[in-house]
Amino acid sequence: MERNERKGLSRRDFLGWAGLAAGAAVGAAAVPPRAHAVAEGTIGDWAADGLKTVAVPNSADGNASSSDGTYRDHTAAAFPANDASPIPPRAVPDAWDYECDIVVVGAGGGGLNAAARSAELGSDTICIEAAAIQGGNAQSAGMCAILGGSRLQEEKRFALPTYPFDAQKMTDWAMDEYHFAADPLLIHRIAEGGGKCIDWMADCGVQWRLGEVPVYVAPKNSTLDHHVLKMKDATDAMFAYGQRLGVDYKFSCPAVALVQDDAGRVVGVVANEDYEREVYIHAQKGVILTAGGFCNNKALLDKYIPTAAMGCASSYLVLGEKGECFRMGLGVDADVSGFNSSASFDGGVDWASEGGQWARFLYDGMTQLSRQPWLTIDRAGNRLRYIDSRVGEDGAAAIYALGDLATIQMTPPGHRGYIIFDANFEDYLAGFAQEHCRKLITPDLEQIEKVPEHYRDWHHGVQDAIDADVLKKRDSLEELEADLGFAEGVLTGAVEKWNACCEAGEDDFMYPMPKEWLHPVATPPFYGCRIGGNLYGTKAGLMINDRMQVIDTRGRVIPGLYAGWHTAGGACGENSYVGDAILGSLLGDVSLAFCGGYLCGTFANDAELD
Ligand SMILES: Cc1cc2nc3c(=O)[nH]c(=O)nc-3n(C[C@H](O)[C@H](O)[C@H](O)COP(=O)(O)OP(=O)(O)OC[C@H]3O[C@@H](n4cnc5c(N)ncnc54)[C@H](O)[C@@H]3O)c2cc1C
Repeated sequence: MERNERKGLSRRDFLGWAGLAAGAAVGAAAVPPRAHAVAEGTIGDWAADGLKTVAVPNSADGNASSSDGTYRDHTAAAFPANDASPIPPRAVPDAWDYECDIVVVGAGGGGLNAAARSAELGSDTICIEAAAIQGGNAQSAGMCAILGGSRLQEEKRFALPTYPFDAQKMTDWAMDEYHFAADPLLIHRIAEGGGKCIDWMADCGVQWRLGEVPVYVAPKNSTLDHHVLKMKDATDAMFAYGQRLGVDYKFSCPAVALVQDDAGRVVGVVANEDYEREVYIHAQKGVILTAGGFCNNKALLDKYIPTAAMGCASSYLVLGEKGECFRMGLGVDADVSGFNSSASFDGGVDWASEGGQWARFLYDGMTQLSRQPWLTIDRAGNRLRYIDSRVGEDGAAAIYALGDLATIQMTPPGHRGYIIFDANFEDYLAGFAQEHCRKLITPDLEQIEKVPEHYRDWHHGVQDAIDADVLKKRDSLEELEADLGFAEGVLTGAVEKWNACCEAGEDDFMYPMPKEWLHPVATPPFYGCRIGGNLYGTKAGLMINDRMQVIDTRGRVIPGLYAGWHTAGGACGENSYVGDAILGSLLGDVSLAFCGGYLCGTFANDAELD
């Protein structure tokens, strides 16, 4: 029997079959359309408002991953990837090019920790990275959610769900939030590991401070005023620590396949050194995959996180995230966990619907503009709730607000919403006073040099959107209505109602906007835009156990193979739609990556340690 031939129906098989069944159902629907109670193309159909389908090239034709790590303009031809097929393992070669104990794939948030931890525990460690610099997406993150158990939080006597910190209590709470659709042992490991990892990173040289809200930490010299590349201080410190311990970092060296021996053990990787020559790297103890998730691989999203593929209007991941390492895991028969789970951090703008690029720079002005409290409606003209991100007295609620808004925008009929405003929009922005990723970029912001020049003034991003007709600017509401794909009277009717509230000075919606936000849509030109969630975290990934070992489709450990988040899944429940910064995976995203790397490094080195 071939190694990958399966006897039973695994989860992955099931997903494949489910997809086929769904395809068959669609096919059947196309024949007798009247057999259905609902008109075809109105419910749950992303394209029903007339958007264009964007052709995404196969990843083999050119995945973009920046070579110098700086933000860059993505070209639609090169990014994102679009290939869901498993990458088969290679056989053991006659001769290896490099020898070591542990190979870590990826030098982002997870990989830097995994490599440093492995070296600290005495392993000869090679860390290969596709980009030319360390840090991955993690260097771009601003806040690191830790729900309790770190020294900083102990000083404040803080822990969720209640102080004192108790990993079991936290696990019970999280499992309840996930409707018990997760592995409690793994969740317990995360609950226990988060604070431990942050303390360890501090001991390795990362200077943390507690945020205004004690659920997150950030590098000490960051302002938290606006989160632009703040975590870079932490990833740089972990890189320096790994260097001091002798980790051999190989940059511009993407992994292209795993190497598996006849007994089924993963014994190394094949990498494309300097993007020029294939090298075989032998790992005596194990291979750790910490190469990010697969957020920008549309084909993988469609298959494993279909609601995110429908509901996320855009994505801003910038390094990696093409899913090759996930596909390598599939190639050695790994199972998948966290099916249909994703994280979105606030709303996004649907550039792709106008033929533009799906993955974009987050702070492009238009994204921030779209996240303001405008008149926001669904396809039927119903209002969508706005969630205020101002910190106010309850900072934790403000952090929840970001993920929650994304959820709202991803769940209406057709999986998207629309924002509408008029010519006076700029006058209202200061009064909205939104925080975090909703804050508009101005040239005087601290750390502004980390933002590409073009985007240092938010107006530029908005003008780009107008030029591309992503933000539609029309002389009449009727024109706007038609061009956004609304049925006649839907948008105009919603505007009429909204204007009546503005005039009365009181919002009659179930979730009313404060009086000072009620601005009529009355002065042409009128503006409108398709919006949805903004995808930033894959939560489906390779199935692992609580010792970070990858599990195959028959529930067995694949010897020699470990995965950390976000190449691994299972940190939150199945069908956990839009993880928020706190409960999306117990630790948010970057902290989860840090913690996963730390745990991988620990367990790959000594299965008895914890
Ligand atoms: C602008 C921005 C802001 C964010 N803000 C926050 C925030 O405030 N809080 C939060 O919790 N999260 C935030 N995130 C998300 C968070 O940064 C990511 O979830 C986290 O970095 C994931 O860590 P990782 O180790 O899994 O992946 P990464 O840090 O992306 O590292 C993966 C690395 O693997 C490399 N790689 C990929 N494929 C290969 C291959 N085949 N071979 C070798 N190397 C490979 C990549 O180049 C990359 O360097 C933000 C992300 C961005 C982009």
